[in-house]
Amino acid sequence: MHYNKNRYATDKKVADNITESWLCVDCGVNTAPGIPDGPTTRIEMALKGTAKSRLGPDSEVYTVWPKLWKKAGMKPWDGCLCIGCLEKRLGRKLKHSDFDPSDPFNQEPVCSKGTERLLDRRRNHKWEPPGKFSWNDE
Ligand SMILES: [Zn+2]
Repeated sequence: MHYNKNRYATDKKVADNITESWLCVDCGVNTAPGIPDGPTTRIEMALKGTAKSRLGPDSEVYTVWPKLWKKAGMKPWDGCLCIGCLEKRLGRKLKHSDFDPSDPFNQEPVCSKGTERLLDRRRNHKWEPPGKFSWNDE
């Protein structure tokens, strides 16, 4: 699928919170293979009233603090970045405190599902054993 970044940015006038494309804008990997893209989701919602989605060990669905997203050269609704490409742009590995715990993408049931590297970055390495995740440390 061809991805026109300029067109996408100006087209985001639809009053919903549906992500247009889950493809990483840098490397093209699908960050949410179990979730249809925006146009497909809207059609399914209109026809069936619901859209099927699945998160799993192949998903990188997350948000980081807006100032960090901006630091990576991204604007709101600018598209998705896989963890590897976001870290490449930032020049460092992500850490627990980079994720906004108030965002639904960083809460259950979304936050406990994802690639190993996403779960690793979300984990508070100070006290959480591998495989465990919680925001209840502050
Ligand atoms: Zn990428």
